[in-house]
Amino acid sequence: MKTSQRLFDRAKEVMPGGVNSPVRAFASVGMTPPFIEKARGNKIYDVEGNEYLDYVGSWGPMILGHADPKVIAAVGKRIEKGLSFGACTELEVELAELICGHLPHVEMIRMVNSGTEAVMSALRLARGYTKKNKIIKFEGCYHGHSDAMLVKAGSGAMTFGDPDSAGVTKGAAEDTLLARYNDLDSVETLMKNNRDDVACVIVEATAANMGVVPAKEGFLQGLRSLCDQYGALLIFDEVITGFRLAFGGAAEYFGVTPDLATYGKIIGGGMPVGAYGGRKEIMKCVSPLGSVYQAGTLSGNPIAMTAGIATLEQLLADPGIYDDINEKGDYLAEGLGRVSGRTVNHIGSLVCMFNTKEPVTDYDSARKSDTEGFRRLFAKLLAAGIYVAPSQYEAMFINRCFTREELDFTIETYGRILEEIK
Ligand SMILES: *Cc1c(COP(=O)(O)O)cnc(C)c1O
Repeated sequence: MKTSQRLFDRAKEVMPGGVNSPVRAFASVGMTPPFIEKARGNKIYDVEGNEYLDYVGSWGPMILGHADPKVIAAVGKRIEKGLSFGACTELEVELAELICGHLPHVEMIRMVNSGTEAVMSALRLARGYTKKNKIIKFEGCYHGHSDAMLVKAGSGAMTFGDPDSAGVTKGAAEDTLLARYNDLDSVETLMKNNRDDVACVIVEATAANMGVVPAKEGFLQGLRSLCDQYGALLIFDEVITGFRLAFGGAAEYFGVTPDLATYGKIIGGGMPVGAYGGRKEIMKCVSPLGSVYQAGTLSGNPIAMTAGIATLEQLLADPGIYDDINEKGDYLAEGLGRVSGRTVNHIGSLVCMFNTKEPVTDYDSARKSDTEGFRRLFAKLLAAGIYVAPSQYEAMFINRCFTREELDFTIETYGRILEEIK
């Protein structure tokens, strides 16, 4: 019989840690990951046939729910025409028009294959455009696994970063400057100390990779002003927030205009798509128009574009989806806060319960969470049929398929388990 354990044992022989992306290994919770057979709506099923309420949603893309009938139908129809041509298709133009037509800050866009690639390319573009070298990022913000972004802690906000990963050279990391999330002074100090050499500030306009940490009032506006003052570009990494907080992402939600934005996750509707876009004047520096080189054999893949179009079209056709998932986010956050007595951060359909009673506003305060307690909570949640990310520092993603009853069940289950493991 197929079991997750047997599959994982096989996987570990031929794949590092048995996985193609580290979090899937469940290492931080010390468990065997369920191997997934299928998913529909807000439910996911493992190979043993267990059903879970899915609060991961493939880490964000499944805002419409899994196996959405319109997305599946569009992909199924398109797939008969061939999987990839490495040549121009109408679909690429359609998806680009859908985005540029509705996001005022995106006048031109380039499709790539992942969020990592989008960020890596946007940073190169920012450097190429400004002819400056340094990049400011924030502790606890995740921007994919390109060398320059694998820097987070170092020795505090004002120093050069140390690489977070083996294999990243000091050279690749030393142009990455670290600031503290929600702390404009830390950014201003870096700008002053690196006068005339900061190419860009990159930020998750609501951090969702150190748990959910919304930008404080005035933080993003302040970044905008500092970037203008010091001649740096402002990049919003909207790989999670894009098409989720609103169709126009965090830029629309907060009313702050970045120079460039990066997308991923929802933009591909479950297929591997990333993108970066922004002002025409900047995007014109990308090859073949300009001298910033960036390319991709499978970029703009017709099947991936089809899934993206079918997803974004539905989000545009029914803006009520956002009211719906945001209300569900409010409801879940309020309920979890009530039964847990812990800090629950949330914005729109992104929710995160921290295992602490202290407010969480940045990386240091997020790290105060009791992760051992999370481990025990996680195991019991999974056993009760609630599938959340196997880490304290991830968001719960709500899609439109959740019902009030399922949210109530989730809240009650959290309450019961927290009581049990007290
Ligand atoms: C997931 C994520 C990325 C990386 O995207 P991949 O498609 O996994 O490479 C980058 N930035 C943010 C904010 C993300 O959440």
